[in-house]
Amino acid sequence: MSKPLIVVVEDETDIQDIIAYNLKREGYDVLTASRGDQGLSLIQAKNPDLVILDIMLPGVDGLTICQQLRAETKTKALPIIILSAKEEESDVVIGLGLGADDYIPKPFSPRELLARVKAVLRRSTARESQQQDQIRRGDLIIDIDRHQVSLQGTPLKLTATEFKLLMVLASHPGRAFSREQLLNRVVGDAVVVVDRNIDVHIRSVRKKLGTQTGLIETVRGVGYRFADQI
Ligand code: CA
Repeated sequence: MSKPLIVVVEDETDIQDIIAYNLKREGYDVLTASRGDQGLSLIQAKNPDLVILDIMLPGVDGLTICQQLRAETKTKALPIIILSAKEEESDVVIGLGLGADDYIPKPFSPRELLARVKAVLRRSTARESQQQDQIRRGDLIIDIDRHQVSLQGTPLKLTATEFKLLMVLASHPGRAFSREQLLNRVVGDAVVVVDRNIDVHIRSVRKKLGTQTGLIETVRGVGYRFADQI
């Protein structure tokens, strides 16, 4: 099952190790780079869910990386957390101005790191869903503001969880989501009592899609995806 992928670009080996260790223990997939230029290539090649970026790096510095990522369509909205030493506070301000989502001052506790990572991932999911107020896929229209879904002109009655699930899938046609990813995106950190079995919700959404049930495809051994071609 694929987990959120986080790329860590940090040249100080001990700090890189601490971050990688804690993120992996929390269930994230982690890739690391010690040089800025390597980090940038890694991010462009692997398309991660989040980047943790040190400012002072050999090769290309963190601020330049941040700027480059924001300039490219593919990574424009990629969540970035900057790591900074105390004497780099002015760089943090620049980094946030360049579009970094958050920063973590060194030294930090693993607990603080994980809290920031979770918060930024959560915000990025919320932002994803706010980017557009309507998702149209063929005859399926998801009105995000009104929380309404219609199929071939007929409104569908979905629960809040089913609505979010369909919205996440339909926002990324053709992209496979693991059950765990879907659960994270649908439930997040919010204290919501929902059935944590994603399959149950998927089955119910499919049933409501009627003849269009094939819009949600099963990805064997992984999870689900929204049909790429309608
Ligand atoms: Ca450094």
